Amino acid sequence: MKSKLVDIHTHTQFSAFEKDRDAVIRRALEAGIWMINIGTQRDTSANSCELAHKHEGVFATVGLHPIHTEKSFHDEKELGSSFAKASEDKGGFTSRGEDFNYDYYKKLAQDTKVVAIGECGLDYYRLTEDTKKKQAEVFIKQIELAREAGKPLMIHCREAFTDLIQILNSNRQLLTSPPGIIHFFSGTTEDAQKLMALGFSFSFGGVVTFAREYEKLIKFIPPERILLETDAPYVAPLPYRGKRNEPLYVEEVAKKIAKILNKDFEEVARTTTENAIRIFNLK
Ligand SMILES: [Zn+2]
Repeated sequence: MKSKLVDIHTHTQFSAFEKDRDAVIRRALEAGIWMINIGTQRDTSANSCELAHKHEGVFATVGLHPIHTEKSFHDEKELGSSFAKASEDKGGFTSRGEDFNYDYYKKLAQDTKVVAIGECGLDYYRLTEDTKKKQAEVFIKQIELAREAGKPLMIHCREAFTDLIQILNSNRQLLTSPPGIIHFFSGTTEDAQKLMALGFSFSFGGVVTFAREYEKLIKFIPPERILLETDAPYVAPLPYRGKRNEPLYVEEVAKKIAKILNKDFEEVARTTTENAIRIFNLK
């Protein structure tokens, strides 16, 4: 099976797709769109592996998202209402605040359909000093796991690029080649430059279809470092904005990037797909 586009960061294993998951995946695959379902904690990582084995052209990552390192946040679209209810019953917290169990994730990481470790990284959007310390520790453990598994990193970073670059630099001897992706990249051109010096590439999603501030970045980053994503079920591109996002809509992201770069859709599709296949060793 050949791929026309790859949605390198999506979450069709989340509960937002409980009712029609197979149909959503099939519509994308029939349009030639491959996808990587990104794990965010124990359950969504295990589920992404399971789903990848059901379909050719569907891959998985396993990891612990920085927001799940603390008991603070719960998104019903991610884990479902039964999880919310269960965690409330256990004392009112909305996220379980998972400790990173290296051996659990190591076992999952050995799966042949797992193509990266993450999403992992730093998220300072909801911040306490303890949060920073814990996030850094959990992130470094996942850099070590990526090294041991010989797979690249899928990095999430929000409002924390200075610390992220510092952590990556001081652990650069552990990075794989290529080292991975910064997904939904929202840093500056200077941040991009420093991350490119470490070998990283960048993925962009639906936000580029309605927020103009990404145009400068997309023109600045060389095409062989740009990949496409949806981050579904979140942040649907125009003309679907406000609706549930899905991998099929990655076409709209490709169209917009082609427009920004003044290139044909086919050329953007070809380059970004080659980038995805090379970096994640997709087969
Ligand atoms: Zn994500």
